[in-house]
Amino acid sequence: MGISMTRTVALPIEGGCQCGGLRYQVVAPPLMIYACHCSSCQRIAGGAFGLPTTITEDSLKFTSGTPREVVWRSDSGNERYGTFCGDCGCRIAHGQKPSNGILSLRAGTFDDPSWVVPAGHTWTKSAQPWFKFDPDDILWEEQPTDYVPLIEKFQTLVAFGEKS
Ligand SMILES: [Zn+2]
Ligand SMILES: [Zn+2]
Repeated sequence: MGISMTRTVALPIEGGCQCGGLRYQVVAPPLMIYACHCSSCQRIAGGAFGLPTTITEDSLKFTSGTPREVVWRSDSGNERYGTFCGDCGCRIAHGQKPSNGILSLRAGTFDDPSWVVPAGHTWTKSAQPWFKFDPDDILWEEQPTDYVPLIEKFQTLVAFGEKS
């Protein structure tokens, strides 16, 4: 059973860390949200998968607190960094070094994540064995080589508008 209704979400999207010391706004529509089952996302989320939200670097504004940074090499070999709250350790966003202009925000840190629907699944080869994929979903065994189908699918699931 697919989800056919497009939801409209008001901008800016508000979110923050677990302790509330770090607060942010996303001021432009995200390009896509998907579920990533890679080993890094599993560890960072402390769960079965992460929900990376692809946004442009300049659309993320920290409104309270100063994020700390951690650097690592991803499963696909890129140098990545993560911003997190120095007090509670909650991971907020990831970027690449050198910057590609794109950030990957953790959708689980939104104040209201109820509208979040992943457009597809990546790194399915390291997914937890109990996770059941819908064969109609967009599935990638590893890192996608083409994000366009995920972006297009996401646009059919969620629309973004100004707060009225
Ligand atoms: Zn915190
Ligand atoms: Zn991942």
